[in-house]
Amino acid sequence: MFTQPNPWKLRQTLKMPETCPECGQHFELEVGFWYGTGYVSYGLSFFLSVFSFLAWWALVGISTEDSRFFWWMGVNAVLLVGMQPWIMRLSRAVYLYIFVSYDPEYKQTAVRNFDYETGSYYRKDGGALEEKEGKDLP
Ligand SMILES: [Zn+2]
Repeated sequence: MFTQPNPWKLRQTLKMPETCPECGQHFELEVGFWYGTGYVSYGLSFFLSVFSFLAWWALVGISTEDSRFFWWMGVNAVLLVGMQPWIMRLSRAVYLYIFVSYDPEYKQTAVRNFDYETGSYYRKDGGALEEKEGKDLP
């Protein structure tokens, strides 16, 4: 899905081919499609923080009498920043999966693209759209 296998090469971390080399699926479904990944990334960061909090609680412990909680906040912040390139990539994969689900027959069926006329993501190039256009004719 990404041109550069290493997400921590920051200049290239979000470089993607236009379409999937395997099935031809367009990655950026419409202009500005990737803006929505911000919400996915937020959710992933939240779950990562919950996980790191639980791990910290089990391994280091949390107490109101010392500053262990604030150490966790610092370590968690560093962890989130360090994991950011990976989170960004995972967000794109998850976000695309919300709109385009896996099709076991992908070699036979056409790719799914955004239809600017109806504003829906369910246009498939080929059969389905031609059928719909046919019905609209008087
Ligand atoms: Zn593919």
